[in-house]
Amino acid sequence: MGSPLNRIDALRQDLSDVPGLVLMEDPGDLIRFSKDAFEYSPVLKERLDGCRADLVARPAHVEAVERLAAACAVHGVPLTVRGSGTGNYGQCVPLEGGVVMLTGSLRTVRNLDPRTGVVTVEPGCPMRDLDQHLRRHGRQLRLLPSTWRSASIGGFIAGGSGGIGSVRWGFLRDPGHLLGLEVVSVEESPERLLLPATEAEALNHAYGTNGIITALQLSTAAAVDWHQLAVDCGHWSDAVALMLACGRAAVDLHLATLLERSVLEHLPAWSGPTTDRHRLLLLVAPDAVESVHRLAATVAAQVNDLGPEDLGSGNSVRELTWNHTTLHVRAAQPGWTYLQMLLPQPEQPALDALRARWGDDLLWHLEAVRQQGALRLAALPLVRWTGLDRLNALMQDCRDVGAVLFNPHVLTVEDGGLGVVDGDQVAAKQRFDPAGLLNPGKLRGWLERH
Ligand code: FAD
Repeated sequence: MGSPLNRIDALRQDLSDVPGLVLMEDPGDLIRFSKDAFEYSPVLKERLDGCRADLVARPAHVEAVERLAAACAVHGVPLTVRGSGTGNYGQCVPLEGGVVMLTGSLRTVRNLDPRTGVVTVEPGCPMRDLDQHLRRHGRQLRLLPSTWRSASIGGFIAGGSGGIGSVRWGFLRDPGHLLGLEVVSVEESPERLLLPATEAEALNHAYGTNGIITALQLSTAAAVDWHQLAVDCGHWSDAVALMLACGRAAVDLHLATLLERSVLEHLPAWSGPTTDRHRLLLLVAPDAVESVHRLAATVAAQVNDLGPEDLGSGNSVRELTWNHTTLHVRAAQPGWTYLQMLLPQPEQPALDALRARWGDDLLWHLEAVRQQGALRLAALPLVRWTGLDRLNALMQDCRDVGAVLFNPHVLTVEDGGLGVVDGDQVAAKQRFDPAGLLNPGKLRGWLERH
């Protein structure tokens, strides 16, 4: 095999006349398509800023994906798949250069089963378009990231975890969301396979390291016209209690986000009336509005009715939650970064202990989620960046109070998750990417397999 540059030249030549495959080499494109939203982490920013693809390729159909996969295998060139590039951990940054494959032209909704609501869709379909399609048929996506207007469905399954809807539907890797995948392997003669749910699970949240997803089969939910409420509480402990009460009540809830007052100061004007209280943001079914008023009255909270969601506008409650909260705070003050964790139960003693130790270097943002069927609180606190040693000390403190950390300052699937190697993910890589060309450096279990 030749030098990396010779290999890219040979690859380019092989691919120059593949029908439906656009190649890009403009330096601006190489830079643009080698980045994602990793700059939220100063640690990742330092590590990833210089990484560049050698070539960008955009296939228009699955046959062109197969030709690209074959050429990469023949010439031993790394291949990194990219949806919309909104991931936060450098998931689609090509650590070893090579080809970045854009999925944006693979966007067809292939089928929507009218009886079950199960949808089959190509990976580059923007989640906004997919949700609109579903809504025309009385369905909606169960889980969405707050980037749902720009993110691709393939990128969400391969790189995301949960978000809007997690209070009801848990997380993407919970059984029942991903029902099947069409996958192309990276081999000299690529295979196109249909994987049932049990086999598809190994590619769910694997950062595109163990197969190229060319179609996804997903369950959906009945559509609801969600109503937006902003509930303001004077005391933090009351706000946490109210959030839990809403999550446990017999109300249909799509989102419950709690922001402490100092976070609110950095949010855009459309986030509701100015207040000096903490704010609970809710998306509830229309028939639940009165029940929330009732629950709020028990802690003398004030309910601001922000009206029905307007999904055509980019300024809805959704765009204030999950990592959009981090986005808004960083837009006002770039010196903040963040953490992600599942809080222990009861939550308040852990929150009190961390507040006592870290004061206003840590601003609280909580999200209600369902974890293995039970209501839990996740936290995405804003963290004042004062260096890696302090960040490590903070993470240790969080673990010490019983939180489960999902570190957003690391590169591998495992280190950003529970820290353990998933043998099924590694086995799928052996099966669909035996030469280890897909998104190299992101699956620790593969790097450590010998
Ligand atoms: P990309 O970033 O392009 O890709 C993500 C990963 O998927 C990469 O490893 C890529 O290689 C892989 N991939 C993409 N397509 C394929 C394919 N066809 N086959 C195999 N692998 C593939 N995430 C959440 O989970 N919940 C949130 O609420 C959330 N909020 C966010 C808010 C902000 C402001 C930002 C910046 C990010 C947020 N994210 C969130 C992270 C990210 O936006 C989502 O995970 C999003 O769904 C990623 O989609 P994407 O199309 O941008 O994927």
